[in-house]
Amino acid sequence: MSERESVRQNVQRIVVAGAGMAGVQTVVALREQGYPGELVLVGAEHHPPYDRPPLSKDILLGRAEHSRFEVDYTELGVELLLGRRAVGLDTERRLLHIEGGDLPYDRLVLATGATPVVLPGQPASAYLLRTHDDAVALKGVLRPGARIVVVGAGWIGAEAATVARLLGCEVTVLEAAPVPLAGALPAEVGERMRDWYAEAGIELRTSTGVGGVVAGDERLEGDARTAVLLTDGSELVADAVVVGIGARPDTGWLDGSGIALDDTGAVAADAWLRTSAEGVFAVGDCASFPSARYRTRLRVHHWDNALQGARVAATNALRLEELGPEQVYDPVPYFWSEQFGRMVQYAGHHGAGDELLWRGDPAGGGGWGALWLRGDVPVALLAVDRPRDLAQGRRLIERGRPVDRVSAADPSVQLKAAVRPELC
Ligand SMILES: Cc1cc2nc3c(=O)[nH]c(=O)nc-3n(C[C@H](O)[C@H](O)[C@H](O)COP(=O)(O)OP(=O)(O)OC[C@H]3O[C@@H](n4cnc5c(N)ncnc54)[C@H](O)[C@@H]3O)c2cc1C
Repeated sequence: MSERESVRQNVQRIVVAGAGMAGVQTVVALREQGYPGELVLVGAEHHPPYDRPPLSKDILLGRAEHSRFEVDYTELGVELLLGRRAVGLDTERRLLHIEGGDLPYDRLVLATGATPVVLPGQPASAYLLRTHDDAVALKGVLRPGARIVVVGAGWIGAEAATVARLLGCEVTVLEAAPVPLAGALPAEVGERMRDWYAEAGIELRTSTGVGGVVAGDERLEGDARTAVLLTDGSELVADAVVVGIGARPDTGWLDGSGIALDDTGAVAADAWLRTSAEGVFAVGDCASFPSARYRTRLRVHHWDNALQGARVAATNALRLEELGPEQVYDPVPYFWSEQFGRMVQYAGHHGAGDELLWRGDPAGGGGWGALWLRGDVPVALLAVDRPRDLAQGRRLIERGRPVDRVSAADPSVQLKAAVRPELC
């Protein structure tokens, strides 16, 4: 019997919960890999599945109306159930409970993404930036002269502030940490981004805690009825407040299912993206996986992980034999961010013990980079307006090639040429 025939007999129905990047890429990959059976994609939102990175870029800027994936679900033979939230899971009976019914499955892929963290008591009038509806609502208030306060100088906060300023708003960004991007990068690197805010005409207040947001405050005049309460007791009046303080895995609906979560609430997948339940896989922002490459469990909230992970989950969901080392998911994570007119890209994963090597001078105009070395081997790279560095650096990291520090620090030398020659 061919493998395809064998899959047909053993796996007749695959259900994917979550119709974002990871979910859509999973169903596309399943068909690309020849899966002939029933395929159901369940999404909580009513919109046709769409891509999120454009939300904080082209959609917010008004350069695009939507960011729908160009996938013909009918042609692909995918039953798309929109506006139907998964609400529970019975792994014994292999039933996914969704609003309005139950879906039996032979294989289930969890791809429910992440949901934004909110401030305590955050009013509904504060803006988030996670969904298409969020982006459209926020766009409506980004008028010239509008006073916009962005809470959080992370990736989303930086992109929202960039667009708000481009659209002529008066923008203040509040960050609890002493530097921007403190959750993702060491302070000495985040510090190099501080000037980007000032150059763009944005006020960045670091080491500034936010206690809450008050909406409909009668003490405030005119339309501006929102005040941000700072932990030092002062207030900041705004026309709109955008909260970008992180996201957590959307896994609350799995309570009671027995699916193991890690200590961050992400589905604790194994190296093959299998969950603790037979026949159930997890991928994208909702999951974490062990990385042998980085000797730690990774939780990657970035687009490329949703794409690459989906392909691996699809392959492994179809495989009936024992999974081996070839099917392990152990990527060099990658992401990009467009902020303050710059393309910021990062590949790899760095830890506190890794050595930081600057590539070029962040203060000197033009692009620059930062390389993290473990011994002489690069494990991560940040590239600002240096896409070629990113492409070459990512390959060096993937191959674990030791580099010569002097060459690697010199931006006039191509990164690939910094590999130590005797080891090529
Ligand atoms: C504004 C914004 C900008 C971004 N920009 C970048 C960028 O520039 N570069 C980059 O690398 N990454 C970026 N990202 C991150 C990237 O978009 C995410 O990592 C990626 O979308 C993750 O895909 P996912 O499918 O795992 O999760 P999601 O995209 O969150 O999709 C999950 C889907 O599941 C649905 N869902 C949730 N719970 C349930 C349930 N119980 N039942 C059914 N459906 C459910 C959700 O409604 C959602 O549609 C950005 C994210 C945002 C929000």
